Amino acid sequence: MLSAIRIRLYPTGAQAAKLAVQFGCARFVWNHGLEASQTAYRETGKGLGYHALSTALPKLKQEMEWLKDADAQVLQQSLQNLAAAYEGFFAKRARYPRFKSKRGRQSIRYPQRVKLDGNRIYLPKVGWVRCVVHREIVGRIKSVTVSRNPSGRFHASILTEDDRPMSAVSTDGKAIGIDLGLTDFAVTSDGSKFSNPRHLARAEKNLKRKQRKLSRKVKGSRGRAKACRLLARAHERVADARKDYLHKLSRRIVNENQVIVVESLNVQGMARNRSLAKAISDVGWGEFTRQLAYKAEREGKAFVRVDRWYPSSKACSECGAIRDSLPLGVRRWECSCGAVHDRDINAARNIRAEGLRLLAGGMPASAGGGTVRRRTRETACAA
Ligand SMILES: [Zn+2]
Repeated sequence: MLSAIRIRLYPTGAQAAKLAVQFGCARFVWNHGLEASQTAYRETGKGLGYHALSTALPKLKQEMEWLKDADAQVLQQSLQNLAAAYEGFFAKRARYPRFKSKRGRQSIRYPQRVKLDGNRIYLPKVGWVRCVVHREIVGRIKSVTVSRNPSGRFHASILTEDDRPMSAVSTDGKAIGIDLGLTDFAVTSDGSKFSNPRHLARAEKNLKRKQRKLSRKVKGSRGRAKACRLLARAHERVADARKDYLHKLSRRIVNENQVIVVESLNVQGMARNRSLAKAISDVGWGEFTRQLAYKAEREGKAFVRVDRWYPSSKACSECGAIRDSLPLGVRRWECSCGAVHDRDINAARNIRAEGLRLLAGGMPASAGGGTVRRRTRETACAA
């Protein structure tokens, strides 16, 4: 079982410079490989695979002496990432690989030789870097990705593999259905409502002000670089607040339940509605269901997605009768059987019932949640 943990790094000035050199080298190797592959494709109708790319690396290093300042495995890894990006593209999982820019987020991956010792981490070609490990790291380290975000902070993502067998999924115990929405972020079948904190909307004024400040600075100036960093930091704060909220809520729901049922939402389709797009990308449903899925999986709990075409709102959770229509504005309604429903709680109850029905029918609990790539939004601006 693989798991990842992200820790904050505090490199000294000299260490940050050594990391910057490696970011640059890895980026150069990626861009060079991408260009070579594109040229090969134009000439022969076939791109270059990892093998062809990596055998060309020693020659490239002879031509570009400065590449030797980077860890050799980091450069190979960069080409491996490129090959994986192509693979993802051909499997229609991802878009076509793009050239990497020196602006925005930078990263390198160490496949090996990283060591952890208390609150310091050893990175090849950099040395022992101070870090904060906020959680015990169990299992073998598979790889470590070191990154610098646009506001200049460093992190390490540590991927570990644990040999413990995954706990079998058990479905005995409390089951919960969750209806996701915009008015309330989540409404559960046991009647709890969690409000939508609207992190982005709340920060909008501040972001706009910082954006304006940035646009008034002279290109290439020191003031512009600083304004750029401040804007990036403000965006990161919004993302952090959202993640923190989602982690706490998903943790609580997974702790309290054995079976978790969520309606699968067509988030991308909905986000195409421009008046809703901002609000939808702000709530973070996708990230929330991802967190529920992996937390449930780790603990041997069942996570079920219910088809979004299932009439969760219009069916009565007491008698099962389905109404012809239920306009969006109707928050409470009475069924002909006499039951009075809160629209969202009723929907959550139906989602729960549908999930349990699917589980009883032997449907495997979908834990992974597909291969949709998460796109993290970051601000990269020309300094
Ligand atoms: Zn009814």
